[in-house]
Amino acid sequence: MHNIVLFGPPGAGKGTQSQKLIAKYHLVHLSTGDLLRAQIAEGTDLGLQAKKLMDEGFLVPDAVVIGMIGSALEKNKQAAGFIFDGFPRTVAQAESLDRLLAEHNTSVACMVALEVGEQELVKRLLERGKTSGRPDDQDEAKISRRVQVYNTETAQVAGYYASQQKFYSLNGIGEIESIFAQISDLIDQHKPAETAAAAATREVKA
Ligand code: AMP
Repeated sequence: MHNIVLFGPPGAGKGTQSQKLIAKYHLVHLSTGDLLRAQIAEGTDLGLQAKKLMDEGFLVPDAVVIGMIGSALEKNKQAAGFIFDGFPRTVAQAESLDRLLAEHNTSVACMVALEVGEQELVKRLLERGKTSGRPDDQDEAKISRRVQVYNTETAQVAGYYASQQKFYSLNGIGEIESIFAQISDLIDQHKPAETAAAAATREVKA
């Protein structure tokens, strides 16, 4: 499996780039923000609990998102790989992701971070808020809280992957296509080695 973590503060362009990457690499997109918003739309208890935190720009508890990722991995055992978007957001989540992927005999190939300064993030999110309908995109105080939570709780996840030599950072300001090309290069450079089982299957087919 080819597993990529797309990292960066809210508004860095992770969602936009994920859409392009899934089309190119046929990976399964796992955005914990999208999964949580689906729970809210369905009106589940989990969604109701999460909504209060999300609307104010706070993180939902680790156990909630780890549980969602665990079930998504179970449901997609045949996937070529995953793009994790907005997850992991804490070191505890990163450790759990390693453990969950190991249970499926796979691991994170690389983390690609999109770097964007706070002023630009606020501008982008307020703009997105005009059409996204997301309460957390529509209020400057909530946006600032999300950026602050990123700086205090999430940014350290980069160090977790750096210590595994899997961390890469790109300028997230520029042409979407140019950023996409740079991410694609990194992904291509980090293709997982073919497993013995996959090689055997290929030989039998040939
Ligand atoms: P996003 O769509 O990634 O911007 O996420 C929107 C909101 O969902 C965040 O501000 C958090 O409240 C919540 N959320 C999404 N992913 C996570 C995560 N991995 N850990 C904790 N909270 C999350």
